[in-house]
Amino acid sequence: MDITIIGLGLIGGSLGLALKSRGWEGKIKGFDENPSHMDEALSLELVDEICQSLDDALEGSDIAVVAVPVKAIPDIVVHIADNFKNIIITDVGSVKKYILDEISKKIGNRYIKFIPGHPIAGTEKSGPSAALSDLFVDRRVVLCDNRFEEIRRMWEFVGAKVEYLDPETHDKIFGAVSHLPHLVAYALVDAISMMEEEEDAFFRFVASGFRDFTRIASSDPVMWRDIFLTNKKSILQSLIFFRNAIDKLEAQIIMEDEENLEKQLAKAKETRDRAISRMK
Ligand code: NAP
Repeated sequence: MDITIIGLGLIGGSLGLALKSRGWEGKIKGFDENPSHMDEALSLELVDEICQSLDDALEGSDIAVVAVPVKAIPDIVVHIADNFKNIIITDVGSVKKYILDEISKKIGNRYIKFIPGHPIAGTEKSGPSAALSDLFVDRRVVLCDNRFEEIRRMWEFVGAKVEYLDPETHDKIFGAVSHLPHLVAYALVDAISMMEEEEDAFFRFVASGFRDFTRIASSDPVMWRDIFLTNKKSILQSLIFFRNAIDKLEAQIIMEDEENLEKQLAKAKETRDRAISRMK
């Protein structure tokens, strides 16, 4: 089966590299609207060939993987569905309901071969040079549709474990466990920047706590702008819980409530340790 990857950055590039390094039986073709990313992807051997137009890249392929920022995904999916009816389309976007809603605004109830997907793997880096051949090994990939075995097989081929979730549940869960932490990391950097304006040199003393907590604030701003705006409802809902948690800690500090503050921190430590051990 030949695969076309549209968007040759961290996720698309890693998928191409992983498929190639594990010996996928078909051809891996790539297209990116950024010409220098196409050159880079070819020189890093992330794909077998790059094509100068989207349609050239799609011609003759069996699967198309759309790996561009969330807001750009629906138009590309509709274009492929309209012009390459035999291709099975999937995407890797971090938000699912927005993408499906935008597609149905454009095509109504028309049947298309589109399987929404989201690999739960990544780093704060972007572009082809960030691609890693083992990015998906032992990582989950969420699919929102089980119609085409080919997509499941592709992800399992690169070492991932496939799980199915409906789009609303996907967005609610990832609004909390992924999108909220990114928002908080960006906000924390902003908060310290505001303090630094008044009292110079804060950033001169940052250490591992700051680095570990804010690593994800080095992620691509366009990608995260799109995610925050397209998963607005779930993120705003998660923020209510986050504000409550901050308020609780603030109150315990103001009241010097040693007992409850310690209980609260111990409970968070235990929950965090358990969640991380389940990741492995
Ligand atoms: P990335 O490294 O920035 O790669 C995206 C690539 O697509 C870039 O080369 C970009 O070019 C190109 N592009 C943008 N618009 C395009 C279009 N209309 N047509 C063709 N190419 C286009 O981003 P990424 O981290 O791989 O993220 C891609 C998708 O994966 C996003 O939807 C994101 O939500 C999802 N995702 C990301 C992660 C993560 O940790 N990064 C994890 C899971 C899922 P320019 O850079 O010039 O715009």
